[in-house]
Amino acid sequence: MGDSRITKVVIVGGGTAGWMAAAALSRTMENLSIRLIESDEIGTVGVGEATIPAIRLFNALIGIDEDEFIRETRGTFKLGIQFHDWGRIGDVYMHAFGQIGRSLGMLSFPQYWLRGRAEGVAGRLGDYSLNETAAHANRFARLPQIPSTSLDGIAYAFHFDAALYAAYLRKIAERAGVERTEGKIASVRRNAETGHIEAVVLEKGTAIDGELFIDCSGFRALLIEEALGTGFEDWTHWLPCDRAIAVPSENAGPARPYTQAIAHKAGWQWRIPLQHRTGNGHVYCSDFISEDEATAVLLANVEGRPLAEPRTLRFRTGMRSQAWNFNVVALGLASGFLEPLESTSIHLIQNGIAKLLSHFPDRDFDAANIDAYNRRIRFDYERIRDFVILHYHANERTDSPFWIRCREMEIPETLAQKIDLFRSQGQIVREGDELFVEIGWFQVLAGQNIEPKGYHPMADALTREELSGFFADIGTIVAGAASRLPTHEDFIAQHCAAGVPA
Ligand SMILES: Cc1cc2nc3c(=O)[nH]c(=O)nc-3n(C[C@H](O)[C@H](O)[C@H](O)COP(=O)(O)OP(=O)(O)OC[C@H]3O[C@@H](n4cnc5c(N)ncnc54)[C@H](O)[C@@H]3O)c2cc1C
Repeated sequence: MGDSRITKVVIVGGGTAGWMAAAALSRTMENLSIRLIESDEIGTVGVGEATIPAIRLFNALIGIDEDEFIRETRGTFKLGIQFHDWGRIGDVYMHAFGQIGRSLGMLSFPQYWLRGRAEGVAGRLGDYSLNETAAHANRFARLPQIPSTSLDGIAYAFHFDAALYAAYLRKIAERAGVERTEGKIASVRRNAETGHIEAVVLEKGTAIDGELFIDCSGFRALLIEEALGTGFEDWTHWLPCDRAIAVPSENAGPARPYTQAIAHKAGWQWRIPLQHRTGNGHVYCSDFISEDEATAVLLANVEGRPLAEPRTLRFRTGMRSQAWNFNVVALGLASGFLEPLESTSIHLIQNGIAKLLSHFPDRDFDAANIDAYNRRIRFDYERIRDFVILHYHANERTDSPFWIRCREMEIPETLAQKIDLFRSQGQIVREGDELFVEIGWFQVLAGQNIEPKGYHPMADALTREELSGFFADIGTIVAGAASRLPTHEDFIAQHCAAGVPA
């Protein structure tokens, strides 16, 4: 067994995916020689600034000090995503992280809320979410539980500068022994018998050999596609946006502890507040709006002074038919792309790394192991895809052909089943270890105005007075807890301010 262990890993690409993989492997695997190759000439995609709470598990895995990480990436805290104009123009709702209210007996909070709302004794769903209440008040603290109660505290993720994040991870990885080579890969050598990649060859002629190759080369997919021709499953018929214009701007006020996603006539715009600037971008479908118009829409909706020329990125939504093929595992943009609406790309990198660690191969590259990895990655991609499609499909907008097309399109069967189940009794079933939990789906389904026909009969166990008291108590606890938190700005200033901007 010892003889067939992998000893040499080559990571192709030094964007977020490459350095995340390098940091994770070097901090968790013994006796591996890891080399990362990146090309300064090609550069990185350089966007990817909003995350979800699972990133804290990744940080813990590689032993990151959270305050240092935020300081170095000029980050802020993120409590959720606020959606504007999605279901209908004028709608605002939040997909807040963390729990909302609390379950009673066997029944989850949203079921009581559906009854409470129907009977006029419940407020907005967000009134029972500490995350959402704190977000509206621009407040934040690390608070795992609301003191003296059984209610969960704050669940959080981060906004950060993607380039600084990669640089920060590079320091960690290099300290842990990862070797970096700068240079452009010009060709790839494959073994004629096994089809495995044996080496990549740089433009200047140097060959770098390895046993396991991790393709983090971005949209180019240098190994998994260009060399191995693995194939790509296109999902643009469900997620038609294919471009983004990105521009940073000056902060126009204190950094909000949440991302904003504002729907426009043929796509949507993100606002991501960092300590030293705000990241803005307009994701759109080029069939419905020109680049000039999309740029104008973005610039008209940027809050502070733009700090650079707008830059266009092109993409195609979908996933690699196999994320792992022969001795190549693709991570990041090389493995597929889901647009950033729910900030899931960096999570998918982390998820790919975690699953690679649990399926770490030996030099036999057992097919059953590779198949299991690929099945699991596909499941994760497909379920996140469904969640993102929901935001587009469940709309009542009549103001533009883009939204009408999204509403009228066929959707994946797995999503149709989720929507049907929700419509019948407000139920959501989380299958397997799919990323988004019931309360996340609930917020978006309800936020996009999908109305359940009823609620679970067990919610009738409380009298109307008991139900009313239940909501009043939780609302009071949540509002009180939020008001006692420091402001987001003060929390950062006290714990993790970056100092003078670069
Ligand atoms: C518009 C947009 C917005 C996004 N927003 C978010 C977000 O808010 N949250 C989120 O989680 N994700 C987001 N993402 C996704 C996120 O940007 C990516 O998942 C992340 O940056 C990973 O990129 P990467 O490392 O796979 O690729 P890249 O950053 O493109 O890196 C590719 C690397 O490969 C190297 N390379 C390529 N070819 C060669 C060669 N021939 N020789 C040597 N080296 C080579 C390059 O030099 C580079 O180092 C967004 C993406 C887009 C397009």
